Amino acid sequence: NRPLAEVDPEVSALIAKEKQRQVYGLELIASENFTSRAVMDALGSCFTNKYSEGYPGRRYYGGTEVVDELERLVQQRALELFGLDAAQWAVNVQPYSGTPANFAVYTALLKPHDRLMGLGLSSGGHLTHGFYTAKGKRVSATSIYFESLPYQVDPHTGYVDYDRLEQLALLYRPRLLLCGASAYPREWDYARMRSIADAVGARLMCDMAHYSGMVAAGELASPFPYCDVVTTTTHKSLRGPRQGVIFCRREHEQEVNEAVFPGCQGGPHNATMAALGVALREAATPEFRAYQKQVRANARALAAALLQRGYTLVTGGTDTHLVMWDLRPQGLGGNKMQKLCDACDITLNMNAVAGDTSALNPGGVRIGTPALTSRGFVEGDFEQVAELLHRAAQVALQIQDRTGKKLADFEKALPGNAAVQQLRDDVH
Ligand code: PLP
Repeated sequence: NRPLAEVDPEVSALIAKEKQRQVYGLELIASENFTSRAVMDALGSCFTNKYSEGYPGRRYYGGTEVVDELERLVQQRALELFGLDAAQWAVNVQPYSGTPANFAVYTALLKPHDRLMGLGLSSGGHLTHGFYTAKGKRVSATSIYFESLPYQVDPHTGYVDYDRLEQLALLYRPRLLLCGASAYPREWDYARMRSIADAVGARLMCDMAHYSGMVAAGELASPFPYCDVVTTTTHKSLRGPRQGVIFCRREHEQEVNEAVFPGCQGGPHNATMAALGVALREAATPEFRAYQKQVRANARALAAALLQRGYTLVTGGTDTHLVMWDLRPQGLGGNKMQKLCDACDITLNMNAVAGDTSALNPGGVRIGTPALTSRGFVEGDFEQVAELLHRAAQVALQIQDRTGKKLADFEKALPGNAAVQQLRDDVH
């Protein structure tokens, strides 16, 4: 029982280094957050030692009475947080993360090569929603084992094109229709999605991974009244440990549970589940609701400040925790903006924006407010963040003017650049 620093100085030093990075940088990745000490304590608990294949009361291992209590408690908290009636809704709190959660749902509801439709990757959808490349290469297990036809946002407005989606769905007739995304800054029209699903006899699933914290707090509309299945990760706006959760109507409970275990997974990660329990308790507090309100207000303040500086945002703004910044009018690739920001300890990610064709050299960046809001940032702070981002874009454009189009030349010019150094000092 010697301390980590003594047992493994190398890993201990890396943890300290990563902590420094997280503390001194500006964390703007829309899918990241800072969990509480209590969540971390549960994550590092003795529950990590326990195997418990199966479900409460039906395990394949002995010594599971405490884990049973834990899993039931976490299930109950998950249902309560989203105001769900346990007579109608079941929840599975075992998925290792968002990707396995989604794949388990497909395993439960579809047969191999059945059809599904989700928002395309370049429109803000997620890889697990059925992506393949422009050349037709199937890159996610979803597209390898199932057939998918992505729908897109309108390239001019940036909003989901529901009319086109309906036309496509009537032709393609998917068995599963998906809503929810990774890089979409607006509310979903769940009623419209339901009516399209009904028109083609499809089940409706929402992957609310990005914004489940906002749904829990009532800051965004709930997908539950319209959907058959709802999945989420728990480490994004929900501010918990890295896990996945599947909610489904009771009629799908058995098939979903069997798809998670033994279909796609073995024993659940009980320490993570314990940490999720803590996060769900925290998410039910008035403080969490106030936090989500601030997340949204901050995203709006950031959007307004960027618009004021003459920049273009996909859909012209945001309803959520994220802003999609279209840098194509400036002639600056998202990848260069990301590199420049990295050099200044501003962490964000390049992202395709409406109408984009390349995921490797996309036209914009995605910026989210959950992490910095957890660190106490309010609207005024995000106006300063917008100013820093504006300066970053200006510096990137100046360097690009000198170095030309090539990313490698751009990267070479970053170390030692005085403007970059100055910006980095100001970020700290
Ligand atoms: N679903 C959505 C909408 C996501 O944005 C993500 C991750 O970013 C996932 C699923 C996958 O989650 P994980 O990375 O935990 O597998």
